[in-house]
Amino acid sequence: MKISEGLAMLELKSNVQNVEGIMYPVIVWDENDLVLIDTGLPGQGSSILDLIEKEGVSPEKLTKVIITHHDMDHIGGLTEIVKKVEASSGKRVEVLSHEIEKPYIQGDLMPLKFTRDKMEALKKQMEGLSPEKREQYQSLFSSNKPVVTETLVDNQELSYCGGITIIHTPGHTKGHICVYLNRYKTLLAGDGLNFQKLSDGELKLIGPDPQFTHNMYEAVKSLKKIMDYDIQKIVCYHCGLIENNLSEQIKQILD
Ligand SMILES: [Zn+2]
Repeated sequence: MKISEGLAMLELKSNVQNVEGIMYPVIVWDENDLVLIDTGLPGQGSSILDLIEKEGVSPEKLTKVIITHHDMDHIGGLTEIVKKVEASSGKRVEVLSHEIEKPYIQGDLMPLKFTRDKMEALKKQMEGLSPEKREQYQSLFSSNKPVVTETLVDNQELSYCGGITIIHTPGHTKGHICVYLNRYKTLLAGDGLNFQKLSDGELKLIGPDPQFTHNMYEAVKSLKKIMDYDIQKIVCYHCGLIENNLSEQIKQILD
């Protein structure tokens, strides 16, 4: 779905343990760069490239991938996307994340929320997958794992695509970032925010989901940082686009 000229939200369908959902990676582009923010589950790399094509943008133009944090539903398609694009374009695709997330993304550290129970559940789930998909899951823990080529810090400004500001928003994970697109006054909240549809159709912004959040206290504190920005639109990775009374709504979460 196109949001503005040079900005689109992808609608990536997923099915985790028979629960249907949609995730919303984003692409932003200018004459020199095409940037993808987050990459779905293992096995979804090709679907993301197809969705980019459907937005009328050639996936071969991809120059950078920004990862908001190391959870599997955000880094799953990364290796496949980078490999495919580099093979067809002959150019390098940079991968950017907060410096704290880098070792988790690369598999040098165990994912933060991986308990022994979760690991067992994942192994069971993998047994039911096709060999190709299973391999993509396994790649997250093997030599074929993702590589971060550039690390980011709080308040860092990236010059391309109308200016991109990195906001370090720890809580969901330690190195979680929100990505502010200066030109579009749009915040890509990652898993830092969610919203619900009320019975009157109104969209109500809610905070991070405690069930999946590493440190709720930090996560709510991080929302205060977001208040400093002029935000007209927010894309929540698991909910989509919201644009009504945003600063008012963020204040309400903090109260
Ligand atoms: Zn997520």
